[in-house]
Amino acid sequence: MDEFQTVIGLEVHVELLTNSKMFCHCSTQFGSRPNTQVCPVCLGLPGTLPVVNEKAIELGIKTAIALNCKINDEFIFVRKSYFYPDLPKNFQISQYRNPVAENGYLTVGEKNIGITRIHLEEDTGKLIHDEQTGIWSCVDFNRSGIPLMEIVTEPEISSPQEAENFLQKLKRLISYLGVSDCIMEEGSLRCDANISVKRKSDLKLGTKVELKNMNSFKSVRRGLAYEEQRIIEMLKENRTVAQETRLWNEALQITEGMRTKEEAHDYRYFPEPDLLPFKIKSDLIERIKAEIGELPNEREKRFQKEYLLSSYDSAILTAEKEISDYFEKALSYHNEPKQIANWIQTELLGLLKEHHTKPGECKITPEFLAKIVKMVSQDKISGTAGKTLLKEIFLTGQDPEVLVNEKNLIQITDTKEIEKIIHEVIEQNQQAVLDYKSGKTQALGFLVGQVIKQSKNKANPGKVKEILQKKMNE
Ligand SMILES: [Zn+2]
Repeated sequence: MDEFQTVIGLEVHVELLTNSKMFCHCSTQFGSRPNTQVCPVCLGLPGTLPVVNEKAIELGIKTAIALNCKINDEFIFVRKSYFYPDLPKNFQISQYRNPVAENGYLTVGEKNIGITRIHLEEDTGKLIHDEQTGIWSCVDFNRSGIPLMEIVTEPEISSPQEAENFLQKLKRLISYLGVSDCIMEEGSLRCDANISVKRKSDLKLGTKVELKNMNSFKSVRRGLAYEEQRIIEMLKENRTVAQETRLWNEALQITEGMRTKEEAHDYRYFPEPDLLPFKIKSDLIERIKAEIGELPNEREKRFQKEYLLSSYDSAILTAEKEISDYFEKALSYHNEPKQIANWIQTELLGLLKEHHTKPGECKITPEFLAKIVKMVSQDKISGTAGKTLLKEIFLTGQDPEVLVNEKNLIQITDTKEIEKIIHEVIEQNQQAVLDYKSGKTQALGFLVGQVIKQSKNKANPGKVKEILQKKMNE
């Protein structure tokens, strides 16, 4: 590996969160019956005229600002011509030489990865193939004309893992901005990659291979790792690497050749004659800048500084905006960052994942979580009782303070009451007492366990141990 150098660039397509399509008023609602969200414009009927969705432009600019790009004061749309059954006009309205924004970067770890350009375009329809017979294919035009943003990186990513990290950071940023829901399973975030590998001693760049059809961040990493290895094997055998497009086969975990350069499209780009050049006013940029607020990278750093959290904790708590908001809201009820962070990470996130629930839909409100953590830290209830409460509230949404009394979970910290139980346990377990006195110290743990059991898990373990030890050494 050490003698080779890998260079990766990514092309990420993101469906923008607008109510209507890019150039018409049709709805963008996902999951509707096929061909129910269409009109003459997005069906490409002759004589129709596109009208630009300004909201989509604003979302593009918002992303561009967050990715440190230069925003062009004037940009144009172009026609990208090609024939495909899901593209009724035989061209796609897109951008080419004069996009919304260029020359930005995204910080991943310690490295700034360059963003070549951001452009806006319309999505195509969707083909549905009959997989059993392979005889028929249907086309659903609901997706045709949905606003799409393409983000192209510089070839500056140096490993498949770094490509996955980049995508995770980008997804986090875009979700934070409310620009897209970024659901890969629904196709609202898609990624193609290109990769080249060369010997470090070679001055010339390696041949570029394009990789498509990856449906998750994990498959992007795996697809690129497979391709990296395949090219290295070829270089070792002095074979020529073809410039081609390959598809990732998820089932077989391999890449397969799709087309070589000779078959590549010539898109014959030319300016879209039905749309005027778009001029961006500086006050629009200022307004969007003001809307953006704190970005996830900034929030992650602030969490470390302000709440003294580790970089690991801050990264987890800022992975999603909803989690970060939840965390800070909980702190407003119980200002113990490390405790709240631990409970969110070890308990809450597990429950959310198990039940496929979003933090915003969760019945454990930040206030309820804070109340539980507070009761545990004050020894009012045990940690185990806290966890039990959390699971119950997740389902019922009951106030933990009410539930604690209802379920009689308040810990016994009253010395007299604990002494009474200890007395009983000593009576019943004379052998263990003798064992302890003859030097078998582990017998103490057994006795503590018995006391807690007899108290129905309500005796405070620390207190039990303290009193018991004193009694035994008398
Ligand atoms: Zn339409």
